[in-house]
Amino acid sequence: MSEPATPPEPNGRNVAVIGAGLGGLSAAISLAQEGYAVTVFEKNAHAGGKLNVLETRGFAFDLGPSILTLPHIFKRLFHRSKRRMKDYVTLCPVRPHWRNFFEDGTRIDLVPEPDRMTEELDKLGESPKNFQNFLDYSGRLYDLVDKGYFEEGLDDLRDFKRYYGLANFMKFDLLRTMHGGVAHYIRHPHLRDVMDFFIKYVGSSAYDAPAFMNCLPTIQFRHDLWYVEGGMIRLAQALRTLAEELGIALRFEHEVAHIRHEGRTATGVELKDGAFHPADYVVSNMEVVPACERLLNKPPRFMRPLRRRLEPACSGLVLDLGLDIQYPELAHHNFFFSGNQKEHFRTVFRKREIPRDPTLYVVAAARSNPAVAPPGCDNLKILPHIPCLDEKHPVPHEAYQALRDRVLDKLERMGLTDLRRHIVVEHMWTPRDIQAQYYSNRGAIYGVVADRWRNFGFKASKQSKAYDNLFFVGGSVNPGGGMPMVVLCGQNVCKKIVAQDRNRPS
Ligand SMILES: Cc1cc2nc3c(=O)[nH]c(=O)nc-3n(C[C@H](O)[C@H](O)[C@H](O)COP(=O)(O)OP(=O)(O)OC[C@H]3O[C@@H](n4cnc5c(N)ncnc54)[C@H](O)[C@@H]3O)c2cc1C
Repeated sequence: MSEPATPPEPNGRNVAVIGAGLGGLSAAISLAQEGYAVTVFEKNAHAGGKLNVLETRGFAFDLGPSILTLPHIFKRLFHRSKRRMKDYVTLCPVRPHWRNFFEDGTRIDLVPEPDRMTEELDKLGESPKNFQNFLDYSGRLYDLVDKGYFEEGLDDLRDFKRYYGLANFMKFDLLRTMHGGVAHYIRHPHLRDVMDFFIKYVGSSAYDAPAFMNCLPTIQFRHDLWYVEGGMIRLAQALRTLAEELGIALRFEHEVAHIRHEGRTATGVELKDGAFHPADYVVSNMEVVPACERLLNKPPRFMRPLRRRLEPACSGLVLDLGLDIQYPELAHHNFFFSGNQKEHFRTVFRKREIPRDPTLYVVAAARSNPAVAPPGCDNLKILPHIPCLDEKHPVPHEAYQALRDRVLDKLERMGLTDLRRHIVVEHMWTPRDIQAQYYSNRGAIYGVVADRWRNFGFKASKQSKAYDNLFFVGGSVNPGGGMPMVVLCGQNVCKKIVAQDRNRPS
C-alpha cells in the first residue's frame, strides 16, 4: 500500500480552477501538492469532463475517450504525494492495439511485438524494414518533441528557438506534412492509411498536420496502449479521490459565469448564481476561445484572430450501440477505413462537410471488460470524425441521422452482418450535444486542430497575455488534446505558477 501522504505546507495563496476535466484536475492536484489552497468549480455533476459514462439496461458506455496512452504522466501525480497509482486504478495493456478493416476485405492488426507485427505486414507484402525505418523516424521525432515541447511546456516559436536553437529546427521534418512523412517510408496504401490515422489522437488531418505529428505512433509502440479496468471513468474517479485526499474543494454543479479582473490582475471568479470567489490565481479548464468570449467578454476585434489561430479540432458523431450478440471478428479497438481516406480528410477539414464515407473508429470494450455488456452481448462505441459546428453553415439533425445510417451500412457491408437487427440499445451524440455538455469550442473533441499553415501545431499559451495571474489548461492549450497531454499541461501550468510566485516580491 501507499505511504500516508504528508499534507503539503500551505503557502497562503489560493487558486480557483474552472472545470474538473483531466486538465483542471491535474493542475489542481499539482498546485495543492505545492501548498496552494485550491477550489475547483465544475458545471457538471461529475469529475473528468469528457470522461463520461452512460449506464442503461446492463450496458455501460464510455461516452468519451477509450484509449489510454503514456500512463507515466498520470503516475507522477500520485508519486508526488507518495502514493501509487495502482492503489487507485488498474491499467491493463490491450492486444492487438488496433484491428484495421478495409473495403477490399484486407484485415491487419497493429501490435507492438516486432515478430507479430512482421506477420501482419506480410499480409500486405509491406517490407518490415520500411516499417522499422518509419518507427525509427517516429522515435526520433518523439524524443525531440517530448524533451522540449512536452516536458518543458514550450508554448510558442520564441520558446522553441530558445530551447532547441534554430540549427535544430530541420529535425522537425519541417518541409513535409504528416502524410508526407508516412508516404516517404511506407509503400502499401492500406498501411499508409493506418499510419496516417494516428492523427485521430488529435482530431486533425494527416494531409494538413505538420510531419512532427508522426511522433504519435511511438507513443503507442514504445509506451503501449492501455485500458482502465472498469472503464475510463475510473481514471477520473482516481484523480478525484487523490484531489479530495489533498484537501482540494470540488464544487460540482457550480458554473463560472465571469472571471473578474482589475487592470492586469484576475481577482477571482463569479458563479452563475452571482456568488464571487476571490483568488490569487485563476486557472481555466474551459477552452481558451469560449473562456475569452464568455468569461472575459472580449470584443470581436480580439476574438476574430484568436478564433482563426485556435481553429477547433474535429468533432464526432458518438454512436453507442448495445447488441444482443457478439461479433467475434472485432478486437477491442477497430478501424473501418474509408475507401478514400484522403477525400475523408479533405471533406472534414477543408470543405468542412459531413463525409460520405468516413473512417470509423469502433470500440468493443467487452473484449477487455465483459462487465460492460450483459453476457453474450456486445457494447459498441462508433466514432466517425466530422466537422465541428459552424454557425454560418448549420448542419440539420437529419444530416447526422443520415450519417448514422451510412455508418451502419458500411459496418454491415464490411463484416458486421445484420448489425441493425441486433441493436437493443442505441444512443447518439452530435457535435451540439458535445458542445452543450462540456462547453468545448464549437463541439470540438480534441481542442485545437494541428495544422501546418494555420498554427504549425501550436495551441494556445498556458499563461494569459492580458492578465498576469490567469492561466489556461486543457486541449486548447499546448501541447493539445488527448488525456495524457492535458494532464501534462496541468503539471506544466503548476510549474509556471510556482515560478511566477518565486519571482514575486512577498
Ligand atoms: C468521443 C471522444 C473520444 C475521445 N477519445 C480519446 C481517446 O481515446 N484517448 C484520448 O487520450 N483522448 C480522447 N479524447 C479526447 C480527450 O477526452 C480530451 O482531450 C480530454 O479529456 C480533454 O480534457 P480537458 O481537461 O481539456 O477538457 P474537458 O474534459 O472538456 O473538461 C473541461 C471541463 O470544464 C467544465 N467547464 C467548462 N466551462 C465551465 C464553466 N464556465 N464553469 C464550470 N465548468 C466548466 C466542463 O464541464 C468540463 O468538465 C476523446 C474525446 C471524446 C469526446
